[in-house]
Amino acid sequence: MIYDVIIIGAGAAGIFAAANLLSDRKVLILEKNDRPGIKLLMTGSGQCNITNIESIKTFTKRYNNPGVARKVLFSFNNRMLMDYFEGLGLKLIVREDGKVFPQSLKSKDILDVLMREICSSKHQLNCNESVTDIKWQESIGLFSVVTGQRKYTSKKVMVATGGQSYPKSGSDGSFLDILAKIGVKMNSFKPALTSVKVVQYRFKNLSGVAIPSVRLSIERDSKAVVKTKGDLLFTHDSLSGPVILNSSRHIRVDDKMIFDFIPQFDENRLLEEMMHQISSNPRKEIKTIFEDSIILPKRLVESLLDITAIDRRKKASEVSKKNIQRFIGNCKHYEVTVMYKQGFENAMVSAGGVSSEEIDFDNMTWLRNRNMIFIGEVIDIDGETGGYNLQFAFSSAKKAVLGLLFD
Ligand SMILES: Cc1cc2nc3c(=O)[nH]c(=O)nc-3n(C[C@H](O)[C@H](O)[C@H](O)COP(=O)(O)OP(=O)(O)OC[C@H]3O[C@@H](n4cnc5c(N)ncnc54)[C@H](O)[C@@H]3O)c2cc1C
Repeated sequence: MIYDVIIIGAGAAGIFAAANLLSDRKVLILEKNDRPGIKLLMTGSGQCNITNIESIKTFTKRYNNPGVARKVLFSFNNRMLMDYFEGLGLKLIVREDGKVFPQSLKSKDILDVLMREICSSKHQLNCNESVTDIKWQESIGLFSVVTGQRKYTSKKVMVATGGQSYPKSGSDGSFLDILAKIGVKMNSFKPALTSVKVVQYRFKNLSGVAIPSVRLSIERDSKAVVKTKGDLLFTHDSLSGPVILNSSRHIRVDDKMIFDFIPQFDENRLLEEMMHQISSNPRKEIKTIFEDSIILPKRLVESLLDITAIDRRKKASEVSKKNIQRFIGNCKHYEVTVMYKQGFENAMVSAGGVSSEEIDFDNMTWLRNRNMIFIGEVIDIDGETGGYNLQFAFSSAKKAVLGLLFD
């Protein structure tokens, strides 16, 4: 049998492409795992943040290569993606921060709805089959695709093998070797959207606590290299959350990270407020005074008191003004040194992959053999956290399918 298209990888991009290919095409999806969509199920902590409602004009700035993102996303944008899922009967919700999820908050519902489309088109899905080789047979104009079990023949091959992050999910970057053999130019994968370990981490007991809109300045050789704002998440051993993940591509070992945990208040105003509280409640514990006058989680206030070496149980009147100023200093300019960035095991996406110079983004084909198509994270495009990476996987898959219509 000669397939019209073989899709390698049943992840977000591969599944979306298959779901959009009509039943008049002979389609085979090859997946090395025992089931499709393992990483898709993990996304958004199992809730699947499919996209973001940000205006498409600024949306594309969230990627490492906005020009390429624009070409791909303008023909199938976030609104079209939402219409697509809602058209299939899947209700969506938009969170206050613009992130879009299935209303059920279950990534399984996204996978199920796409698998239903694939089944109704009678496309073939072979799991437990890892592609180990691809060869273009010039004389007959067909690909042979080799797996551990069999050899298949196809007119087109769609590569949807993903990046290298969370390698246990199946996308372990090993497919790049096969692509290199046939002459595809690539940039090696690097972990992106990753949390950061710092020297002397003092927030282990805050694991799971998030603080909204923290200001972060990253300094190298006493010069600011990044100034940004966003939500910070403490984990048991590292700093994470959007403000860290989105900056992680710029972060290097030994950089200084300076946090302002409460950018909405200036230091003088905080000092005034605290001194007022202390003089009105001199017998109250200092911990309570700080907890009442600063809008930070109680456990963070306690940690910052420990860091400032102020005894939490001291009466307010017993703490010197100098120590109060030092405490405020820690709230407004808390400095840590980067020990290292987490690796692929913890990174949400991979930077790197098939070079964008190799691809015609009008139809996602390889410039050197138009019968080979690339979609999803295997391409050297990565976005910020917030639904941007799944949107790229879906948009690139849709663009490839539209390209096949004119074939
Ligand atoms: C924990 C986590 C949470 C995330 N949350 C979000 C989120 O909420 N929103 C968002 O936008 N992005 C999120 N992402 C990123 C997003 O999941 C990826 O960008 C997206 O899955 C990429 O889709 P893809 O189809 O290109 O690759 P993948 O989903 O990685 O799929 C690639 C598939 O190819 C298969 N494969 C690889 N090699 C072979 C081979 N040789 N033969 C056969 N099959 C092969 C793999 O097994 C895998 O199933 C998250 C990532 C992680 C790790």
